[in-house]
Amino acid sequence: MRCPFCEQTGSRSELHAHMVDAHQDGLSTRREGDQMFFDLNCPLCSEGMTREVNPRGRDQAFLDKFADEIRMVGFDLLLYHWETHQESGAPVDAEALP
Ligand SMILES: [Zn+2]
Ligand SMILES: [Zn+2]
Repeated sequence: MRCPFCEQTGSRSELHAHMVDAHQDGLSTRREGDQMFFDLNCPLCSEGMTREVNPRGRDQAFLDKFADEIRMVGFDLLLYHWETHQESGAPVDAEALP
């Protein structure tokens, strides 16, 4: 299958690692008071995904490290969505469709 952001191709897990590594800008985090959220958008249909995250600490060093974990989770979510697009080149499992 193909990366949502560029022409890179590979298995799902290869692309996941590639996105965490190369497309850090594809996911942004923001804070509203005590709550923290991440936002990401599908590059194809502009469908937005927002999730609340719950960092266990407040210091910046921790949040920087936590951002990597957020990307792992966020890009995994995006791949689930991306796989529903034909353009992803993901193998279609007819049995999995509703
Ligand atoms: Zn890419
Ligand atoms: Zn989409």
